[in-house]
Amino acid sequence: MEEKILYKIEEREKELVELLRKVIRIPSLTGEEGEAQEFLASYLKNLGMGVSIWEPDIEEIFNTFPEVAQYPSHWEHDLILPYDTLPSYEELVKTGNIKLLNYKNRPNVVGILKGKGGGRSLLLTGHIDNVTVEPKSDWAHDPFGAEVIDGKIYGRGASDMKGGLIASLSAIQSLIEADVPLTGDVIFASAVNEEHSGNGTLSMICKGTTADVAIVAEPSENQIFVATPGDVYWQLTVEGIPRSPGARWEGKEMVGISAIEKLPLAIQSLLKLEEEQNKMKPDPLYGTKNPFSCVIGEVSGGTYTTVTANQCVLRGCMYFAHGLGSVNKIMDQIKEYILKGTQSDSWFEQHPVKTAFLHHRNSSKINKDHPVVEIVYDSTKASSGKYPSVLGSPYCADMDMLVNQGKIPTIIYGPGTIAHAHKANELISIDEYISCVKALALSIYRWCK
Ligand SMILES: [Zn+2]
Repeated sequence: MEEKILYKIEEREKELVELLRKVIRIPSLTGEEGEAQEFLASYLKNLGMGVSIWEPDIEEIFNTFPEVAQYPSHWEHDLILPYDTLPSYEELVKTGNIKLLNYKNRPNVVGILKGKGGGRSLLLTGHIDNVTVEPKSDWAHDPFGAEVIDGKIYGRGASDMKGGLIASLSAIQSLIEADVPLTGDVIFASAVNEEHSGNGTLSMICKGTTADVAIVAEPSENQIFVATPGDVYWQLTVEGIPRSPGARWEGKEMVGISAIEKLPLAIQSLLKLEEEQNKMKPDPLYGTKNPFSCVIGEVSGGTYTTVTANQCVLRGCMYFAHGLGSVNKIMDQIKEYILKGTQSDSWFEQHPVKTAFLHHRNSSKINKDHPVVEIVYDSTKASSGKYPSVLGSPYCADMDMLVNQGKIPTIIYGPGTIAHAHKANELISIDEYISCVKALALSIYRWCK
C-alpha cells in the first residue's frame, strides 16, 4: 500500500508542482486571504471532503482566549495598536480601527476526510496569509509569478508557507486517489492571519477543530520541530521637554531635556534583562544557543534639528525559548527592568517610561518521544532515505495555540526554509516540496490507517 501511495505521488509530480504554482499566483497577503481561501474550499469539495468555511469572529476569540487573542492585522495598514496589559475587543472597537482590522472576506477553511471510524485523527494545518512584497524593487522575479528556475519555484509564500500547505493538501489527495482505506479522520485546515496575530487558528480552536495530533507544515527543511519560542513585541515611549539651544539652560539648570538623550538608560535596562535571561539554562532542544534575544528594532523621535526632542518611541521584540516562563511573565519582567533600570536618573520619577506591547505569543513544546514524532521520522526515512533532526524551532508559529489552547500534540514539519521567508525572491525547492508530500502521505497513512 505504501508503495502505491508513493507511486501515485511520483506519477502526479508535475500536477503537484502546478497546483502549488497556481496557489502562489493567487495573492493572499495578510488581510486579503479571501480569493485563495475560496480556491482551497472548492478544491477540497472537489476531492469529496466535507468543507467548513467561516469568517473568524473577533469578539468570540477575545471572549474565549483573552490571554492570547490579538488584534487582527492587515499588511497595508500600519495599525499596530499598543496595549498596556492585554489587547481587548472593547479597546479595538473604541479605536475605530475595527473598520479596517477585521475578518470580512477573510475566511478560515477546514476540510475533513472522514475515516471509517475507530482510528486516530490527524490535523494538517497552516496559514494562507503572507507578508508584504515590499520593497518590490528587490525582487528579481514576479512575486506572484511562480516562475520555475533550476528546480525552484519563486514567489511570495513559496516557503512561508504555501509550499507546506499545498504539500499537506497533496498528501491527502494522493491517499484519496490511491483509494487508501483509513479508519481515522484526516483534517486539512488553512488559517488566516497567522502573521502578526494567530487569530485564524484561535478561531478554529473556538469552533472545535481538533484531532489527536497535528502537523503545522511551516518551513522546517523537512526537519521535525517539537518546540516553538515565545515572543513579545514592545514599545517604549520616553518624554522630554522641547527647548531651542538658547533656552536649554536656565542658569546652571537644564530645562531643555531631549527624550533621545534619556533613551540609553531604557535600552540598557532591556539589554540587562537579555543578559540575565541568557544565564538561564537553555532548553536542550536548542543546544548551546542562548535562549533569549532582545531586538532593538526601530526608533523615532524629535521634530526639529535645533529643538530638544519632546518624545521618543522605541520599538523592538524579545524571543524566548520554552522554559523561560509564560509571555505574561516576560511582559511583567520588561516593565520591572525598565522601572528598576531607570531609577538612577531622577528625570524618570516624574516622567516614567511608558511601556506598551504590540504582540505576544507563548512558547510551546511537546515531548520529543511522542508517537507523532516517531511516525513522521519513520515516514521521512521510508520515503526519502533521510534522517530528520528533532529540534526546537527558531521561530514562532501557530503551533503554540494548537498545543496550549487546543491541547493537541503538534509538531512543525514542512518544506522550505525560514531563511527565505518574509524576503524578496522567496523560493522553494521542488525536490523538498515533493519529499514533504511523500513523507506526509505516509505519515497520514500510518497514523490513520
Ligand atoms: Zn509562516
